[in-house]
Amino acid sequence: MPQIMMMGVDIGTTSTKAVLFTENGRIVSQHSVEYPIFTPVPGAGEQDPDTIFDAVVTAIRHAVDKAGDAGTISHVAFSAAMHSLIAMDGEDRPLTRSITWMDTRASAWARHLANEMDGHQIYLRTGTPIHPMSPLVKLLWLKAEQPDLFARASRFVGIKEYVFHRLFGRWLVDHSIASATGLFNLADRDWDDGALAAAGIAVDRLSTLVPTTTPVTGLPKAIADQLGLPADTPFIIGANDGVLSNLGVGAIGAGQVAVTIGTSGAMRTVIDQPRTDPSGRTFCYALTDKLWVIGGPVNNGGIVFRWVRDQLAASETETAHRLGVDPYEVLTRIAERVAPGAEGLLFHPYLAGERAPLWNADLRGSFFGLAMHHRREHMIRAVLEGVIFNLYSILPAVESLIGPTRRIMATGGFARSGLWRQMMADIFDREVVVPESFESSCLGAAVLGQLALGRISSLDAVNAMVGATHQHHPDPAAVAVYRQLWPIFAALPIALAEQYSAITEFQRSAPKAG
Ligand code: ADP
Repeated sequence: MPQIMMMGVDIGTTSTKAVLFTENGRIVSQHSVEYPIFTPVPGAGEQDPDTIFDAVVTAIRHAVDKAGDAGTISHVAFSAAMHSLIAMDGEDRPLTRSITWMDTRASAWARHLANEMDGHQIYLRTGTPIHPMSPLVKLLWLKAEQPDLFARASRFVGIKEYVFHRLFGRWLVDHSIASATGLFNLADRDWDDGALAAAGIAVDRLSTLVPTTTPVTGLPKAIADQLGLPADTPFIIGANDGVLSNLGVGAIGAGQVAVTIGTSGAMRTVIDQPRTDPSGRTFCYALTDKLWVIGGPVNNGGIVFRWVRDQLAASETETAHRLGVDPYEVLTRIAERVAPGAEGLLFHPYLAGERAPLWNADLRGSFFGLAMHHRREHMIRAVLEGVIFNLYSILPAVESLIGPTRRIMATGGFARSGLWRQMMADIFDREVVVPESFESSCLGAAVLGQLALGRISSLDAVNAMVGATHQHHPDPAAVAVYRQLWPIFAALPIALAEQYSAITEFQRSAPKAG
């Protein structure tokens, strides 16, 4: 009997990955193809949709080829980055590149929607925070700043819709990608009239909504040959990369929270009812028609530690390179020599402004409490602690919607550091488990595909596929220290809102040397 395999494809921001798994979640083969992000003007973050389509084809083809005759493929299921927007003309040709979540050119329109229009009410119905990343906000921006293009566009789609259209010739959007557009009413599972009115579009300029578990078949023979797959292989439309990553790390049970700290960061948890936050701190996106994911994204994850490595630790980095060890390891070893709490030094990591939970692009970083007894190792430790405090600050908003949480599933580059993982257990005062998850969004997609085809009866099947690598329990002494520091950390950005705006305003026009 040839073994059955399943494929998850994740159309990400930096690359598309295709992974073939056994039905038990073991990786058989994988291939990824990178592509660039263009910044033709400040604030832009664009990608070429056809380059991404080619990457999807190449990634699938190579993953299939690398597997050889390892078995037969039951299905291909898709994950994709959220919030992208492409304007299409009447002949189904793109009028714009794919405008990604990173693009901030619509910032003024986010403020306009929040302050002058009924942005908060739209958020409460749609679950997408009012932010320049949101396709709804991008539509307001396009309509105001490129009215001819906006008028000419016969439809507006995201990158996954574009790829599916090139594969199957159909304009379909899954509820999960749709729920991250700011245009989708969570309760009705349909486009939201008020949001569409705000965007100035009618429903005929959007794709047909389908559940995330929808199988699509009928691949044209020429494309099937290019992919190296039988033409009748079911393609499951799938969901967005955030909700699928929760599934792929096995964080789908009650009270389980997934925290990712890679370059940026996020906290997410699965619930069985769509919920939005009266204070607008959290997102809510669909996973299936019965499960939703709420949480918050942060800008300032590992990128802040990278900044420390590059700007404050040149000599340590050079020594690390000479010794052939990872500079991050040297820096975390140095931080380890300082007690929890860094002897009263706090660091606010808002180098890139911040999204959840404060949603304030004007926030800026700072050390607070510096005294003569603080050395560089205190500063490094304070930075690591500050990144975790910042993620912890989302937890009250999440718990106000779902009740108490118990266990943290931690992923991302930060989880390579034992010190940083233990800090998370101590600051959160919860057990921290690092799942043995590789390509969690791809695995999540593949498992969702199994559910779609009735090959499993519940998504809980994922729990048997995800192992654990590290486990950390809170250390009571450290927990006590962080409890004392937390109120000070949390109060500062609220107390200083005016000064943050003033310094940001100053930075915009600050004199520069030479
Ligand atoms: P991405 O989100 O771009 O996929 P990763 O998940 O690999 O990136 O995370 C990269 C971040 O992980 C780095 O910026 C750094 O802060 C952190 N990191 C990487 N290696 C280590 C390490 N050995 N110790 C501590 N932190 C690390």
